[in-house]
Amino acid sequence: MKQGRVIIISGPSGVGKGTVVKRIMAADPELCFSVSATTRAIRPGEVDGVSYYFISRERFEEMIQKGEFLEHASYAGNYYGTPEPAVNAALAQGKSVVLEIEVQGALQVMRRRPDAVSIFIAPPSFEELHRRLAGRGDTDPESMARRLREAKGECELAKEYNYTVINDSLEEAVQKVQAILTAERCRSRYTYIPQKEE
Ligand code: ADP
Ligand code: 5GP
Repeated sequence: MKQGRVIIISGPSGVGKGTVVKRIMAADPELCFSVSATTRAIRPGEVDGVSYYFISRERFEEMIQKGEFLEHASYAGNYYGTPEPAVNAALAQGKSVVLEIEVQGALQVMRRRPDAVSIFIAPPSFEELHRRLAGRGDTDPESMARRLREAKGECELAKEYNYTVINDSLEEAVQKVQAILTAERCRSRYTYIPQKEE
């Protein structure tokens, strides 16, 4: 059976991770999206259980205690985490699992699963990152300023990832991520070659 991989898509808030992920998921039925848990408030248009599992801080801390997260992090005043059982279930079915997560969590996954494919999505400039975050219109000014401050430190960690894709033209960024996933699927260790019978 085909072996699934953990695919980490990371980068600063507003860079376009969600946009890129939606595009690659729509084009590839072998990919499965990992729905994270978070303590942040639900935004208009988000659906509980689809965008995130929106849970209380108490419940989140209970899940940490029980070791239910593959990784978790505190970001811009809220907790975010990847429930591990769903990741393992998808991998067991031969599916690859896409984790759209911030950098602290990404570093934890790289340590725990060295075979994960890690892709950092970088902005073409900080001015453009600011424009995108503001243009999305769903983040209050204080949270936006906080996210922009965090972005500089996050971009310095890009060198820890297997790949970096600059999201300038969306089309080109999507193509590059797809090319990376295609190449990773062709790695010899993940490719089954039929053996000739004696
Ligand atoms: P993230 O998931 O990283 O927080 P989003 O996917 O929500 O970011 O994108 C932030 C905003 O930037 C959205 O309004 C999105 O439409 C826009 N965006 C994404 N990629 C590009 C791009 N290549 N060029 C211009 N705008 C983009
Ligand atoms: P947002 O509040 O904009 O949805 O997400 C804020 C940041 O948290 C984004 O960079 C997003 O990728 C990241 N994030 C979402 N889910 C997780 C998760 O499960 N773990 C970690 N570490 N980060 C996450």
